[in-house]
Amino acid sequence: MEENDRKPWFIRLVEWLVTFPDERRSQNGDGDGDGDDGRDYTDVRRNYQVWNSKSQVFVMGGRFRTLKRSLRGWITFSCCIIPFVLFCIFEASWWWHKISPGVVITFVYSWILCTASFIKASTRDPGFVPHNVHLTEDPYNIPEEYRNVISLPCSTSKKGVQVRYCLTCRSWRMPRTFHCSKCDQCISIHDHHCVWITNCVGERNYAYFFAFLVFAVFSSTYLIVLEYVRLFYNDDVDTTLSNTPVTLLILIMAHITILYPLLLLILHVSLIAKGQTTREYLRTWKIHRYDNPFSMGNILKNSVYALCKPRGYSAVSSRARYEPGDVRFRRFES
Ligand SMILES: [Zn+2]
Ligand SMILES: [Zn+2]
Repeated sequence: MEENDRKPWFIRLVEWLVTFPDERRSQNGDGDGDGDDGRDYTDVRRNYQVWNSKSQVFVMGGRFRTLKRSLRGWITFSCCIIPFVLFCIFEASWWWHKISPGVVITFVYSWILCTASFIKASTRDPGFVPHNVHLTEDPYNIPEEYRNVISLPCSTSKKGVQVRYCLTCRSWRMPRTFHCSKCDQCISIHDHHCVWITNCVGERNYAYFFAFLVFAVFSSTYLIVLEYVRLFYNDDVDTTLSNTPVTLLILIMAHITILYPLLLLILHVSLIAKGQTTREYLRTWKIHRYDNPFSMGNILKNSVYALCKPRGYSAVSSRARYEPGDVRFRRFES
């Protein structure tokens, strides 16, 4: 009988709901089930259980992931939920019966798309590059030449593109790949680490992040228009204001929730058109004529590449079966 089967069902349920990966497991997963410290590791079944990171948390059997310090992510989630709940309880009936059911259906549909995009962007693998892809002979001592920056020739740029070896992940970073200290991983086509979604924005979740901004702006604008119409529908404005404090509350919240997503959306539309990431933009905005090696040549191609290209497979596959000794989840400290 495996260790996992001997645990009471409620312990297994809690571990399934929220899993803090056990770093020691990956350090000792030599295949015989017993760690160097004498503990039994045969209960390890999935990769997320041995993910060697101090910051990651996995939810519902590794189906979703977030970071331990995710307060601002919960604030963003609350900003999605609270106006929607208030509208459904206090306003939806009035719009449904007095105006049209279509008004409510349109709002609910746009809100579902907004929230689904947020959940996808914040819990999805943003393009993690596995640890230890390029281990040296002695992984505890990195040769001096691995600390150099290497320039590769590039047909679209005279300067070429640069690649580096990540001393934390023990892997060569592809162009546009950077290490995020908060996620404790290298991220492919790293745009930025967004504290409001508690995740990096990278190659595999950029489209969801952009969709979240679009639907957040649309839902908030729609809500603002509805609430202004509701407030000034009656001739007696004072009576309307005193009778509908919730309408005012929703209106204030909608004005707050539209501001930041709108500014970000404008920025990202311009970045997509130029074929840049936020990180590249912040590094090069002072350069008068920046020679962007990653631009596809025109706005349409850049937009299709950023938003429509296949996201590919996850290189860390958190829910895949754990193979004892898999070095992708091991950490070598210098
Ligand atoms: Zn790294
Ligand atoms: Zn990050």
